[in-house]
Amino acid sequence: MRISDRIARMKPSATSLMAAKAREKRSQGFKVISFTTGEPDYDSPSEAVIAARKAMDERQTHYPPTSGITSLREAVGEYYRDHMGLIYDPSREIVVGTGAKQLIYEALGALVNPGDEVIVFPPAWVSYVEQIRLFEGVPVEVETSDTNFIPDIERTEKAITPRTVAMIINSPNNPTGAIYPEECLRGLAELACKKGIMIINDEIYERLVFDQEECPQILKVCPEARNWVLNVNGVSKAFAMTGWRIGYALGPGKLIKAISDFQGHLTSGTSTISQWASVGALVKSQEYCETMRKGFFERRNLIVDLLSQIEYINFVKPQGAFYVFVDISSCLKRENGIYLENDVAFCEGLLERKNVAMVPGTAFLSPGFVRISYSCSKEDICEGVKRFIEYLE
Ligand code: PLP
Repeated sequence: MRISDRIARMKPSATSLMAAKAREKRSQGFKVISFTTGEPDYDSPSEAVIAARKAMDERQTHYPPTSGITSLREAVGEYYRDHMGLIYDPSREIVVGTGAKQLIYEALGALVNPGDEVIVFPPAWVSYVEQIRLFEGVPVEVETSDTNFIPDIERTEKAITPRTVAMIINSPNNPTGAIYPEECLRGLAELACKKGIMIINDEIYERLVFDQEECPQILKVCPEARNWVLNVNGVSKAFAMTGWRIGYALGPGKLIKAISDFQGHLTSGTSTISQWASVGALVKSQEYCETMRKGFFERRNLIVDLLSQIEYINFVKPQGAFYVFVDISSCLKRENGIYLENDVAFCEGLLERKNVAMVPGTAFLSPGFVRISYSCSKEDICEGVKRFIEYLE
């Protein structure tokens, strides 16, 4: 059997790979601490479960409308109106999909012709580049500032060519936890309007913000860019509902229709029961987001305190999400008997010798770094960092 070139050249997700290696060691009886988790370590809110159960009891088990059940599209519209002051028409400008991941894929499918360029800002989430390539698009990496991982407007403008059709932004960011400030968002939005390119605004971590009231929203900062922004969000990170697989996108009607048409041939819409669960969460569980935010805030402070005491590494204090992106480049290629070629070898060694799993920065287009997820218990954070220090030494 022959696997297509398209799929054969795709790199498997490094996050899943490291998580699988950690699981394997655990199954061999080792006490492994995994800093690889990409999801909140909370259970879904009861309101979501109750709503799902009710939907099943009422036999809401048929195909949904392709773009999502009306109640969920309305709940999403109300959420964006109440929390962000942005008005979208649920009947034309909102689509529900199988997670933010699928919606980003469908948006790229709707925008990218072979050879078209899409700008990404490293460190960037593992799937953007692979998804762009699946449509034979060309990912164009535009370096961010190495002091805070924020995109530079001038550099971005220089990277735009007649083939650029979109850029993907992600704030709060996975893997860095950086939040793009208003000036940056305004600059990017103005560029998009001036050059006529679409911004895919992945704001899946928007509720997990620590040192400011809320995450700056690109269209609140620059409402004129409304026709050039697709907001992508979902219940995975805000409500600890990763397994329900519900995401939503809000944007110009023409793009939403294209995404929905594409989805009609992919999935015919996403699970009706999960959609009802998400209505339950969005309408009734807003305080739950705050409980989780506070829990992550405490753990962010704990891990930052612990890591700050280590002399061999550098990192920028994360402002959101649940990751710290640590520069370990000064620990590589030391000629002291231990030779670590790169961040991948570093992570493999750390798991092998100390039973601690992290994701190498290479997976996020940033070699020389490791991503630590602190979505785990405080005890695990303390023990994991202790072993990390032993390994570094
Ligand atoms: N975008 C980013 C930056 C993520 O980290 C993730 C999940 O890890 C997603 C999108 C996908 O979210 P969903 O579970 O809604 O598909």
